[in-house]
Amino acid sequence: MCNSCSIELSDRDVNCVAIRPGRLLCLKCLNGGGCLPFMEEEKLDEKLKLIKENPQVHIKLETSFDDMGARTLMFFSQSVQERKRDLDVLQKLGLLPGDIRIARDLYEMIDLRIKDVKEICGYNGKEGNNWPVCPLADKEFYAKGSKGLNKLKDKDLMKYWKEISCKEIEKADRLVIRAHHLLCIICYISRDVYEPLAEDNLYELWMKMRNNPDIPVTLIEGPGDCMVCPPCYGFDNDRKLCFVGCHLRDRKKDVDTLQRLDMLPGETLPAVEIIRRIYENIPSNFGICDYEYVSAYQWKGCAGPERYQKGLKKGFFENNEETLKRKTNL
Ligand code: SF4
Ligand code: SF4
Repeated sequence: MCNSCSIELSDRDVNCVAIRPGRLLCLKCLNGGGCLPFMEEEKLDEKLKLIKENPQVHIKLETSFDDMGARTLMFFSQSVQERKRDLDVLQKLGLLPGDIRIARDLYEMIDLRIKDVKEICGYNGKEGNNWPVCPLADKEFYAKGSKGLNKLKDKDLMKYWKEISCKEIEKADRLVIRAHHLLCIICYISRDVYEPLAEDNLYELWMKMRNNPDIPVTLIEGPGDCMVCPPCYGFDNDRKLCFVGCHLRDRKKDVDTLQRLDMLPGETLPAVEIIRRIYENIPSNFGICDYEYVSAYQWKGCAGPERYQKGLKKGFFENNEETLKRKTNL
């Protein structure tokens, strides 16, 4: 396989484990120092290690039911109490049996939506003979259990990639940018203070285009070789993929941007021509970065049009209108 074909590739077929939704919470308790016999019996420590070492491991949510509520074989070996815990977790996360998410995303949602286990595992203090509460339900283990679960790129590595990528931008006579990051530069322009950021190269690329309006810019689909991405705390420089929450929805932003600019992935135009098309065709980022409603957690918006439009108004180039017109008339 050629090098450019192997970047950004999915590893879901070979890097996926099945876990019951309720056990995702137990893994948090285990990580927080809790210990119960079933954790050893089910070898939860091995699953925890896997998740901590690679939060991008894909987790398939398995339960006693399929997505239409029909029984799976698990139904005949799982207790009703455990079935309830699985359904409680699925309901709170807005997920269904069989759904697959990377561990990082699941724990991000769990931290947001399941703040404690007093209700799910402790029935809010209402223990019954048939419905015993978990002895860890009112302990601190769950609360402590987020630590170390969703590690990001460390600061030294971010610095390393910042230096390398900035040098590349400095000497480049052609820029490579994932399409929607041009819009992010417009948002950046809305700021009051302009300075390089540790986690991306928006400022550097803006300056490069501002000072060289005719520089060729290649727009790509996906993070791949984008010159904005290398220092980001959520970017895997080997797989050339971002792994923080914006991973999938940013794919849509790229193709939305390309469509509005009437460009295809890999196409190259002078910076000024692309920016002119942005002013003409993308007066608002609504529909690209912000939606009418949030259909699912993975599709939540970034920022509404105000910031983006403020950036457009401030101007991309020095003497913005004249620069854009000059090139239009060529
Ligand atoms: S409190 Fe709940 S999540 Fe924690 S170990 Fe007990 S059953 Fe699992
Ligand atoms: S709102 Fe859109 S253009 Fe602005 S920073 Fe967020 S993703 Fe980028």
